[in-house]
Amino acid sequence: MSSAVVVSSENLDEKQQSVSTPVVQSVDKKVNLLGMSRPELEKFFEDLGEKKFRAGQVMKWMHQFFVTDFAEMSNISGKLREKLEKICEIKAPEVVHRNYSKDGTRKWVFRVGDGEGSLVETVLIPAEDKTGARKTLCISSQVGCALDCSFCSTGKQGFQRDLSPAEIIGQLWMANYSYMEDVPVAERERTVTNVVMMGMGEPLLNYDAVLSSMQLMLDDFAYGMSKRRVTLSTSGVVPKIDQLAQDIDVALAISLHAPNDELRNELVPINKKYPLQQLIAACQRYLAKDGNESSRRHVTIEYVMLDGVNDKPEHAQQLLKLLKNLPSKINLIPFNPFPHAPYGRSSRNRIIAFQKTLSDAGFVCTIRQTRGDDIDAACGQLVGQVADRTRRAEQWKKKVAQQQEILRTQG
Ligand code: SAH
Ligand code: SF4
Repeated sequence: MSSAVVVSSENLDEKQQSVSTPVVQSVDKKVNLLGMSRPELEKFFEDLGEKKFRAGQVMKWMHQFFVTDFAEMSNISGKLREKLEKICEIKAPEVVHRNYSKDGTRKWVFRVGDGEGSLVETVLIPAEDKTGARKTLCISSQVGCALDCSFCSTGKQGFQRDLSPAEIIGQLWMANYSYMEDVPVAERERTVTNVVMMGMGEPLLNYDAVLSSMQLMLDDFAYGMSKRRVTLSTSGVVPKIDQLAQDIDVALAISLHAPNDELRNELVPINKKYPLQQLIAACQRYLAKDGNESSRRHVTIEYVMLDGVNDKPEHAQQLLKLLKNLPSKINLIPFNPFPHAPYGRSSRNRIIAFQKTLSDAGFVCTIRQTRGDDIDAACGQLVGQVADRTRRAEQWKKKVAQQQEILRTQG
């Protein structure tokens, strides 16, 4: 991650502004309905002595019309609305900064938790494809990450905490709402077409909250998204991939980044616990779980291109072998540098040569476009604004300083 966002009222145009007030005001101890899945909300209404179909009604108001005030829910009786106002709320996380780029990319920084809380980011990237206009939202699942991949700035700040379902789905709510703020309630529609769980954090290590959020994404009473358009990205928490296969049908992306265990142990340390053979087998089981009708016809393999580290012809050859029996599409990600990063981005020619080797062998292999450069929104850059609060960040800075000192004295 590079420069920090400057939260200042100067030099900010209309759509690039800091926002200091919560979008939805809350009163302590009210139950937040935003993150509840349909079964949870049905139970909530039953416990109140109400019919469970109320859950679907309220879900539609919240997630399809972006209404947070119970008074506006016209198909619910006045008495019930009053009751709801007293005991619950509909509350997305507080937006502390938003930035809308000229290329259509939008970014939000949310504050989560009480008091000063922690900051997380969400990025929306528009694109055109053969199915029409896409708006893909990159959602965070944790504040920081415990897994410490060596090329990832989120990993460098260590793990702070899991996000709740309301904080996860609240990111999708806010992105949709941002297009509908000025539209009359009856004419509002959902704008975000795709979700990728590729923001901060390892989604499979915040399993329950991520699962219920994804259930809301697919639920026709909420976002009603196509299961092929909701993608969970993981660095390879093998037992949780198997659990996911049982619980929900969404697309799976694997942050592979290396074609052999030795290199992957270095780049993605969780590989020491779940080595490549186990990971590939888990992906095969995931695809086998459901037939062609599901979102599981292939996995997406993410491969960050690190100059001189994993981008050589022999790596492409090893990758071909590794993926031989796994239906997969490969996405090459030009490395996004961040301060003190120990790597550089592979040259364009290197990346194209790598792609050619894979394509010639019959793989669909794409190169990720870097978007939203003017607002620092590229994937893997979701952390520069977030204060480093952990010991790991301090240790990391010390280590880098030591290395620089060694280089200086050697040079
Ligand atoms: N923890 C999950 C999801 C979040 S990371 C995972 O690792 O899959 C989302 C993607 O961004 C991953 O593929 C990750 O490897 C990649 N990424 C992280 N840091 C990056 C960087 N500096 N440049 C490019 N991609 C990066
Ligand atoms: Fe965590 Fe993913 Fe970053 Fe690895 S790449 S440290 S798993 S967020």
